[in-house]
Amino acid sequence: MKKVLIIGAGGVGQVVAHKCAQASDVFSEIVLASRTESKCIAIAAKVKSTTGVKIETAQVDADKVPELVSLIVKTQPFMVINVALPYQDLTIMDACLETGVHYLDTANYEPLDTAKFEYHWQWAYQERFKQAGLMALLGSGFDPGATNMFTAFAAKHYFDEIHTLDIIDVNGGDHGYPFATNFNPEINIREVTAPCRHWQNGAFVETPAMSMSQSFTCPEGVGTYSIYRMYHEELESLTTHYPTLKRAQFWMSFGDSYLKHLEVLGNVGLTGIDPIDYQGKQIVPIQFLKALLPDPATLGPRTIGKTCIGCLVSGVKDGKEKTVYVYNIADHQACYKEVQSQAISYTTGVPAMIGAKLMVEGTWMQPGVWNIEQLDPDPFMQALNGFGLPFSVIEDPDFSIV
Ligand code: NDP
Repeated sequence: MKKVLIIGAGGVGQVVAHKCAQASDVFSEIVLASRTESKCIAIAAKVKSTTGVKIETAQVDADKVPELVSLIVKTQPFMVINVALPYQDLTIMDACLETGVHYLDTANYEPLDTAKFEYHWQWAYQERFKQAGLMALLGSGFDPGATNMFTAFAAKHYFDEIHTLDIIDVNGGDHGYPFATNFNPEINIREVTAPCRHWQNGAFVETPAMSMSQSFTCPEGVGTYSIYRMYHEELESLTTHYPTLKRAQFWMSFGDSYLKHLEVLGNVGLTGIDPIDYQGKQIVPIQFLKALLPDPATLGPRTIGKTCIGCLVSGVKDGKEKTVYVYNIADHQACYKEVQSQAISYTTGVPAMIGAKLMVEGTWMQPGVWNIEQLDPDPFMQALNGFGLPFSVIEDPDFSIV
């Protein structure tokens, strides 16, 4: 049993706090810290009422290494679960190195002024973590996270070699707003408006954002949705760790209302990430827009419907071509009932807790910086079944992706 420090008290932080409290045989003590401590206090009260577990809270600005170091020294955790924003990844990794604690996150580092979603900044920490005998687990959310594990699980159990990968992220949920994002709006809009990149024959090919789409029918009656090809960070690590991949693509569903509003907001310059001069002040349009949009952490009670996120993998086994689809379906209202969050936060927070559990228990513990697919998928997949995100496998499904 070990003490854990969770940084970030948004939609995902709330789920991680609940899930760690549910696993109190693994996490002996939990500290929840964020820039706004009142958010941590509110989450701690919910966790206490649903699980009976008491959580400590703290205030920290995770952009500042000295503040992080003094919090870690004061609280003495075994590891940090970073569910603040991608901008804080490197400062938290620096603080972990300085204080000798392990690290986990769910999204790769991004500088404020570049929406590139690349791992090289964090991969550069490999030797420092190794030499310090510390582990950093990168991308232990759903996508990245469970999708990397679905790929690793398929590759391990169903193939000798994998050749194509399509990650298909469908959110069939409806929150009733004309426009809202289901996780941090700034990060969501940066992701969606960035140019698309997909892997084709040994290189990334760039195409305009949202320029390719098709229809996808989810299993188990979840419905038929328009899915759009876009870049997602796990494509970089998966194509690195599975060099036999000839093509790898990421697809996400979007409703008409979301796309229409995004286009209008883009046309009036509100999705920009470069600072602009406004009445003598420097403002970043996307941060201004974020402040106007609903907080994703408040969407839980009003979101209905299901998510269906899975990986369609093809390759060869014993000389024969085959295809496998590994997926999870989550129900927004069932997630809300359990931890008072919608399914996007839930599907991210559960794998974050599972990754931390496998580090605390020693199952995955190894010094260095690791993307999640570099670790054995089996204990993770087993834990998904046990902690609310059961997966299914369809061999040779009757659908395909072009
Ligand atoms: P929210 O915006 O709801 O929450 C972010 C939290 O981080 C807030 O509590 C915020 O505090 C805190 N925070 C921001 N800046 C700082 C800082 N400098 N110091 C301390 N705390 C800070 O985001 P989500 O919960 O929706 O997302 C959290 C993370 O999860 C993001 O990195 C996101 O990219 C990732 N994610 C990953 C997914 C996956 O499947 N892998 C899917 C969805 C999200 P305050 O409110 O006070 O500013």
